Formats: sequence, structure tokens, C-alpha cells
Amino acid sequence: MSVLQGDFVWVDSGAGVPLGAEVKVTDTGQLRLIDDEGKEHKINKKNEGSIRPMHPTSVKGVDDMISIGDLNEAGLLRNLLVRHKEGIIYTYTGSILVAVNPYQLLPLYTTDHVHMYTDRRLGELPPHVFALADACFFNMRRNKKNQCCVISGESGAGKTESTKLMLQFLAAVSGQHSWIEQQILEANPILEAFGNAKTVRNDNSSRFGKYIDVNFTKGGAIEGARVDQYLLEKSRVCRQAPEERNYHIFYYMLMGMPADQKKILSLGSAAEYKYLTMGNCTRCEGRDDVKEFAHFRAALKILMFTENDSWEICKLLAAVLHIGNVEFEGTIVNNLEGCEIHRSSHFDMACQLLEVDPNALDKSLTQRSFTTARESVIKGLTSAQALDGRDAFVKGIYGRLFIWVVDKINSAIYKPPEDENEVRPSIGLLDIFGFENFNINSFEQLCINFANEQLQQFFVKHVFKLEQEEYSRENIVWKHIDYQDNQRTLDVLAVKPLNMLSLIDEESSFPKGTDSTMLQKMNQLHGKGDIYIPPKNNYETQFGIQHFAGVVYYDSEGFLEKNRDTLSLDLIQLVETSGNKLLKQAFHNELSTGSNTIKSMPTLVGQFRQSLDALMKALTACQPYFIRCIKPNDFKKPMLFDRELVMRQLRYSGMMETIRIRKAGYPVRYTFDEFLNRYRVLLKKKCCESICESMLSGKGDWKTGKTKIFLKDFHDTMLEVERIKELNH
Ligand code: ADP
Ligand code: MG
Repeated sequence: MSVLQGDFVWVDSGAGVPLGAEVKVTDTGQLRLIDDEGKEHKINKKNEGSIRPMHPTSVKGVDDMISIGDLNEAGLLRNLLVRHKEGIIYTYTGSILVAVNPYQLLPLYTTDHVHMYTDRRLGELPPHVFALADACFFNMRRNKKNQCCVISGESGAGKTESTKLMLQFLAAVSGQHSWIEQQILEANPILEAFGNAKTVRNDNSSRFGKYIDVNFTKGGAIEGARVDQYLLEKSRVCRQAPEERNYHIFYYMLMGMPADQKKILSLGSAAEYKYLTMGNCTRCEGRDDVKEFAHFRAALKILMFTENDSWEICKLLAAVLHIGNVEFEGTIVNNLEGCEIHRSSHFDMACQLLEVDPNALDKSLTQRSFTTARESVIKGLTSAQALDGRDAFVKGIYGRLFIWVVDKINSAIYKPPEDENEVRPSIGLLDIFGFENFNINSFEQLCINFANEQLQQFFVKHVFKLEQEEYSRENIVWKHIDYQDNQRTLDVLAVKPLNMLSLIDEESSFPKGTDSTMLQKMNQLHGKGDIYIPPKNNYETQFGIQHFAGVVYYDSEGFLEKNRDTLSLDLIQLVETSGNKLLKQAFHNELSTGSNTIKSMPTLVGQFRQSLDALMKALTACQPYFIRCIKPNDFKKPMLFDRELVMRQLRYSGMMETIRIRKAGYPVRYTFDEFLNRYRVLLKKKCCESICESMLSGKGDWKTGKTKIFLKDFHDTMLEVERIKELNH
């Protein structure tokens, strides 16, 4: 191919997808290619054959990827790249919004922007998250159908920020700047204080999933909202990976609380607490814990938490920190291993704050009672077991405190409908953990990835399956588009009889079940298929699953324990004796059902599946929108675009296929009735004339005037007869 200066072309980059390049003349008068990464390529016999011209749409990029001429991976990737370079972070794929995290504050979200995007159709203006929010709002009212927006992407891709922006827009267009809108917006800092933390991927990583359903009045004003939470990462309260922090709230409290209050709780600085120093990181750059604490306290007030509520919350959090510093020493008595607690000031403080008897706390942390068929036995715990038990207690407290906080928020912002059967217009926003694949993956990752499989299936169903099925039902000529359907993975995980999740549950309910008996059963039942990948040999504890986003290997160790998620009866009984009202409220499920019901508490998988089922049902009843958040680099840096990283995200989100189907497809549908009702105004006269022409042609003359149509009597009769026939059809 011969090229001229200023031409844009594709060149092979050696690895991965082709790069874009511009043809330039060097000082010596020769033609050279400068690729998108700034590298220079000579043009010679060897590479000449691989240089291909670039479609004009790919040179500067396009707002909607459907209109890309180079409809291949290189084209998509370069489109996002050139836009990212110019600070344009939003791009459409039809009605799907692709959002590339800019990692810098952009002047895109002002009141002017809200006004600009209000009441405009998608595509009228440059792509924007506000445009999507407006589309939801508009469709909710026009189609009288609930809307939802599924926001997906890896950790740090920008899901939570997008969710907040959607809410901000909805609060603004709903109009009144009223109390309820402010309450809904201020629920976020509270949720983030308890549920977000600094991780290596994201300085404000949400460690739980959430679905916010915003209810509107018929007139389109916000009436209330409800938050559903999913699967908080409880292990973080006790353990953090290097360079990661515990939940923000602990640091806020230690930095921001007045000295006199800290003194009452006997609190020092973050460095003094084991639970806050596991990751060797107590500060988060760019985050002012003092200011955040003030914001957090103000938000609590707005959400109707009383002064006493906030104090009680701080007491429990302080108790958690003190318990974390409690130490155990191993003992050997009568040849039996056991342990003793160091009665430190931390231990005393923990007892005081939890309002329990020190001897009782001591016992329930160092001993475990069992009931055998005949008698109840008390057994001493080794110091390692005691540490595990202590951590389980703390996770139990924190997890329940989080749920209590969410419930409390809901009681402030959610107003149940007065009439149960009344359907209120609503817009749901789903901000849920993205797909995870770490060096070591455990039970939590399996749950998270299962949720992502379900959401992917929802997406696939919406974009591909239903679309193509409808074309064939309507006899639309259509060339079938292949797509990656992840239903088979879901079948093995959760649908088939004896699926993996039910095996995990079943094994958890066997007193004799262990991680390895569970693994054996999985091997037996699923080892033959190509979704489940059994361990290489009998000693390995890792199994793999073929997910839509790639294979993930999970370490089965600890699965059953995590799934059972139970606290020892001794600890539950301890809570029962506590004078701390908040603690008891947080444990109300266990306490109200009596003390002998630990076994009947649902497992984690059980609870999670139930809440996911409810979520999927809610989503299915809505008209869905999708935001695909993309992380441009792993360093939280602006203006840095890692092509390989982005390509991987584009691939597994099925973006190529999505674009193909959106481009070939007809995403907007009206029944004839709807279409006519809405648009006949555009062609009033023409419509009338063409009805008359097709029904009355050759049957005498009729006339159209400026605003009316003039018929003979018998014309009207004929039309009426035909009309009745059609209606009875
Ligand atoms: P996720 O929820 O997907 O894990 P976040 O929404 O928390 O990711 O985003 C991570 C960080 O990226 C944010 O704390 C913020 O610094 C930055 N970020 C994300 N979206 C935007 C945006 N639209 N504008 C500016 N910065 C953003
Ligand atoms: Mg998040």
C-alpha cells in the first residue's frame, strides 16, 4: 500500500491488536510511521504488506462506536484511546455507555451540565453519564416502566463515582432540592465510611455491593429510596493486605474525634491497633480523615441518627479495636493444650464498651462448649483457635453493625407505598463488585464472580438473546450474530441439580463435611465437563472455573467455615448477657430465635443467592441501561492508557459482539399502535390521505383541505366497516 504524509494507517504492533499510526516525513525526506505510542517505524518491504489504511472514522474517534468504520478490536481500542487523550471519557455503544476513568477531576458535572442534559434524547449531545440518567428519568415517565442501570467494571474502574453522578442528576432534575433528596445523597458518605477502604487498586474501594432503588411520585419528584447491600468483605476488619487499610470509619474516628471523647473510649492513634496496621498503612493520600469524620457525623444527623446512636456506634467500633489488641498465651494443663487471656487495659476496655462481664468474655474467648448426645462438655481452646474465635466475633459484630446502619438509613429514606399494590415509578442503580481474579482466590471471590456471571447473563439476555428471538418472532430478516453465552457456567455453578453452590451448602450442613470432602464431590459430579477444572492431583486444593471473563482458580481451603459463617454458641450467649443495646440490636436475628438455633441460620451462599435472586427479579422487571466502566491503567494515574489492560476489559465485557449486534440491530421498537399514537402528528395529512387511498381508491372522490378531510357518506361507512373488521381481527 502506498501512503502519503498525513495519512493514518494501522500497523502490526508485534503483540496484541494493531496500533494506529500517522505517516510523517522526516528531516531527510523519508516517510516514517509514528504510532499511537510515539514509536517510529520505517516503511520497508518487510512491513509494507501489513500496513492498512485507517477508516476516516477512526482517525479522530466517534461518539458512538456503532458508527466506527474499522469494526474490529483495534478500531474500538483506538477510539477510546484517542478520546481519552483529549479528556473525553464517555463513549456510546448505542444506548450502552462506556466510561473510562479519567483519574482526575473534570469540569463535566456542573449545574450547567445538568441543565444541558435535561430533557434531551440520548445521542443529541456528546455522550455523558447525565444523558443516561436523563434517559432513565424520561423513559420512566413516558413508558410508565421502571428503569434500572447496571454499572459494571473492575475495582477502580469508576462504578461508585458513576452511581453518585447518576444520583446527583436525578436529585437535581426531580426538582425541589428537598430534604429527601439531600438525605439520599448523604446516605453515601455513611455507607462509604463503613463499607469502603483503601486497597491497592482503589483508594476508595467499595467492599460491598449495593442496589439503590429511587422511588418517584407520578409527577417525577423523588419520594424516597431504598438501599440493598450485598456481601460486605468482613475479613478486612481483622486483616489487610500490604498497603491496604481497614474500613475508612476507624481512621476517621481516630483522627477526627474530639480528645475528650477519645479519652472516654480510651482511644489512641491508628498505629496502636493491630487491626489497623496489618497492611502497614494507616494513611491514604488525598483523603483527609479529619474532614471526612466531620462530614460523616453531619451525614448521620441528616439521616436521623441521634447523638446517642453515633456515640453507641463509636463505642462498638472502639470495642472492636480494643479486642483486636487482646493477646492470648498458650498453656498446657494436664497434657491438654489451652490458653489464657492477658488481662490488659485493652481487654478491660473491651468488656466495658461491650458491657459484658470480664469473666464471661474471658471464658467465651478461651473455651468452647459442645453438646454431645449425652452431656455438655467444655473444651479449652489453643491460642491459635482463640485468636480465630476472637476474629470471628469481631467480624460478626462489624458485619451486623453494617447491616444495622443500612437498615437505619432505609428507615429514614424509604417510605413504603401506602397501598401495597400501588406501583411507584422507580429507577434502580446497581453498583456491585466487579469480576475478581487474584493470585489466591477464595470463597468470597467465588461469590463475587457468581454475581458477575448472573449480571453478565442478564446483559447477554437483554442484548443478544431477547433481541434475536424477537426478530425471529416478528419475521424480520436477520443474520444471526454469535455471542459468548455464559449460561453453561451458570448451570454448573447454580442451576443443575447438585450444582457447585448447592454442594458447598450441603457439605456445610454435614457435621462431618470438610473442604476436602466437598472438593471430592465437586470432582465427581463436575469433573467431566469443561466448566469445572478439577485439581491436578489428590493433594492440590485448588479447583478452577471457566468464567466468561477467563479461568479463575479457587483455593478450597476454608470454604465451609466461611460459608457456615457461624459464631460459637458461647459468644452468642455472651451477647445475650450484654447491657449494650446496639450490640444486642445488631444480633437480633440470633437472639430473637433463642440460643439453640445456630444451625438453622442460613449459610452465606444461601443468603447471597436469595438476595441475588431478588435482585435479578427486580432488574428483569425494569427497562435496563448499562454503564461499562473501564480502568485505563493500574496506577490510578490520569492520561495514562494501558492498551492491553483496556483491551482485556473490552473483550470480556463482550463489547465487540455488542457493537456488532447494536449496529446490525434495531434497538427501538414500537407496536404499530404506539408508533401511530406518538408520531402521526408528524404526517397528519399524509396519513389521512394514504388511508383513504388504500381503502377508498376508485370509490368516488374525496378531498383533503387544510385541516380536515372531506368524505361522502358511503366512504365513512366503508371505513367504519373495515375498522371494525381490523379491531376484531
Ligand atoms: P469502583 O467503584 O469501580 O471500584 P470508583 O468509582 O471508586 O471505582 O473510582 C475510583 C477512583 O477513580 C475514584 O476515587 C476517583 O478518584 C476516580 N474516578 C472515578 N470516576 C471518576 C470520574 N468520573 N471523574 C473523576 N475521577 C473519577
Ligand atoms: Mg466502588
